Amino acid sequence: MAKREFPSKRAPIFSSIPDEKWNDWRWQLSHRLNSIEEIEGVFPLTESEKLALAGSHLFRVDITPYFISLIDPDDPNDPIRKQVIPTEDEMVPFSGMMSDSLAEEEHSPVPGLVHRYPDRVLMLVTTQCASYCRYCTRSRIVGDPTAQFSRNDFEMQLDYLRKTPQVRDVLLSGGDPLTLAPKLLEELISRLREIEHIEVIRIGSRVPVFMPMRITNELTEMLGKYHPIWMNIHVNHPNEITQELADATDRLTRAGIPLGNQSVLLAGVNDCVHVQRQLVQDLVRMRVRPYYLYQSDLVAGAGHFRTPVSKGIEIIEGLRGHTSGYAVPTFVVDAPGGGGKIPLMPNYLLSQSEHRVVLRNFEGFITTYDEPNNYQSHDPQACSFCKTKRSEIGQSGITGLLEGAETSIQPQGFSQTHTRNTEGQLAGADPLEWRLSTNQPRHDELVDH
Ligand SMILES: *Cc1c(COP(=O)(O)O)cnc(C)c1O
Repeated sequence: MAKREFPSKRAPIFSSIPDEKWNDWRWQLSHRLNSIEEIEGVFPLTESEKLALAGSHLFRVDITPYFISLIDPDDPNDPIRKQVIPTEDEMVPFSGMMSDSLAEEEHSPVPGLVHRYPDRVLMLVTTQCASYCRYCTRSRIVGDPTAQFSRNDFEMQLDYLRKTPQVRDVLLSGGDPLTLAPKLLEELISRLREIEHIEVIRIGSRVPVFMPMRITNELTEMLGKYHPIWMNIHVNHPNEITQELADATDRLTRAGIPLGNQSVLLAGVNDCVHVQRQLVQDLVRMRVRPYYLYQSDLVAGAGHFRTPVSKGIEIIEGLRGHTSGYAVPTFVVDAPGGGGKIPLMPNYLLSQSEHRVVLRNFEGFITTYDEPNNYQSHDPQACSFCKTKRSEIGQSGITGLLEGAETSIQPQGFSQTHTRNTEGQLAGADPLEWRLSTNQPRHDELVDH
């Protein structure tokens, strides 16, 4: 057990539930709240929340008794409440809105397997979660009990992985992998482990936050058989940090599973330097390393959670240098259209010349660093790693430019457009344009959840 230092809460309506039931994840799952009547047993709803809950077309609602107990019943702006209780705001479209803003379907060679980066894949293993986040980036499929991944999908995912040796890291997500039946979860992980080139298995889960009682000793013992296993949890606000969560992360880390945290920057929830500082410091106390802070995706139904990108920069400015380096996450924008994660941070490099760089620190102290004048360049010919580890063909990007594997990266149609005939006319029939994404905004998307 972790040291008792975090709060533990249970809403009055659950006070007569025996501990054995409360601490049983199956009880938590089967007693989730989703209707106006059930939720009003815990706290009174606003008109906007009632309207959203009465509508049938919104993204699924379900909240574990444990998690709903963390909401302050008297505060309609409670940061946990906003994450799980819908409001009318979800029906408001915004420019740039999409159903699959990360173009995951386009990057899926087989259903549920997103292969965007050279050496790792995202493997969606279920559409179900313990509770549903209102800003879910995958709300197009998540929560729908009729849209489950089948055994056949799973076999196709495994087939693809077996014949794709460059994949060394498989990230299990969904939905939430830890909501799978324990036997199925073990089968999945053990079958992945049989594939020799898969070095690391990662699990992305919010179960420790929604339902920490799921992190049983049996579960951690099972996971411990398949190391190296890493896990990212998903905490957005310090109010989500309880003794139950601290005990769960203690069990996970004792089982040798390194823990990270991915949070989403959400207006009205955690768009504050002081909230974020408390969050990352509490996470580190639980041996959870803040990993990513995400800019909100352009997903339908989540427009009211969006913040300007500058808010993320401001938060990193308020963390870096002000608190432990390992408490500072990387702020990323997951590029719409499938560009992947793009890290952003304040500028610390102010200027440079051949011999010197000018830098500033978090306090605004401006300093110089003298460049070496006798640097012996790294010799790729003499380096065995350089000889064997060439950049991935076709996905080497800017590294490929630096290595001289490519000399330029061009938008589609670039060379035709710049070829002129003898009259000086541009020869290219196609106008110069960057490849248009097929994942165009769909403003009618909200109605077909
Ligand atoms: C986020 C993500 C990953 C993992 O990225 P890391 O930066 O390695 O954590 C892999 N595949 C997809 C499609 C992703 O969105």
